[in-house]
Amino acid sequence: MVNTFSFSCSVCGRCCNSPPSMTLAELFRHPDRFIGCIAIGRVARWRPGQRLHVGRHEAVLDEADCAAFEVLADTLLYRAGDTFSIVAQGFDYPSLARCPALADDGRCAIHLQGKPLTCEVVPLDPLVPDSLQHLVLAERGSSAIYVGSACVQEGKRDDAALLVDEGRIADPHAKDALARRRRALEQERAIWTQAVFEALRSDLFDSPAALARIPAGGFLTISLVPALLSVAAASSRCRELCIDYIDSQLALIERSIVQALTRRRLDDRPVTQQLRGFANAYRHAKARLVDAAAIEQHNGTQALRPDIEAYLSGAVH
Ligand code: SF4
Ligand code: SF4
Repeated sequence: MVNTFSFSCSVCGRCCNSPPSMTLAELFRHPDRFIGCIAIGRVARWRPGQRLHVGRHEAVLDEADCAAFEVLADTLLYRAGDTFSIVAQGFDYPSLARCPALADDGRCAIHLQGKPLTCEVVPLDPLVPDSLQHLVLAERGSSAIYVGSACVQEGKRDDAALLVDEGRIADPHAKDALARRRRALEQERAIWTQAVFEALRSDLFDSPAALARIPAGGFLTISLVPALLSVAAASSRCRELCIDYIDSQLALIERSIVQALTRRRLDDRPVTQQLRGFANAYRHAKARLVDAAAIEQHNGTQALRPDIEAYLSGAVH
């Protein structure tokens, strides 16, 4: 079995075909470009002896693979019967088939202004143990997007950097990006995803009917509001930052819907409906936050979580 892959990005922009996963802080850095949402996915559990197939590639999971997955699951995922991922993500009309930061020349318009860390990790997957990243590459390499760009190649190549060699990440930059993305996901957990998991437990994670809304191999996308309400409680400054963010998002959603209406596509309609739901949730959340600010001013109380305040205002990454 081939478990060595090389990678060379020609910046063709093909894989920038949808908004990426982002941290909440990254969304706050680009409030007028990305519509934020929470994406919840189901992650398959791994068992020793289980066979994973990707095309003609195959791996039989051993104890070490499963232990490595458990370490990732313990720090980055959530267990409620099944295992789930909870991440912040950009949201847009799938019919556009492009990331809102993709410039017309195929380059990333925010490359130097806080490009999401998840884009630096491409084509690796931070939720897969390093020893099995070759399967991620095998899958990506055989997908239409990557076949067209020929950036993922089996084996060692003179014209591409060695990315994964015999089950280990060989490229130091890729290894560093992977580690930083995993650390960022851990930080997200401390800042808001654990709180959102608890807040959604009874309505979603403990309800088989609600969990059935998570599509196989896909994500359930919901409003970012539970995340905002969680971080807004950290301090009055966090609340102000959330209100500003909501104002930017409401304007962006409005612009996005207006553009969709001019395209007159049937498949845009459910997305427009979801965006209107996001806008309603934002308006209700803003009213709550404004009320909370008035009460706090009157009573003079203030919660303190300087770590969240620094995180949202971009002082720490
Ligand atoms: S598809 Fe491949 S070559 Fe094109 S931008 Fe993405 S990683 Fe780079
Ligand atoms: S943020 Fe930039 S690199 Fe990432 S998907 Fe969008 S255009 Fe591509």
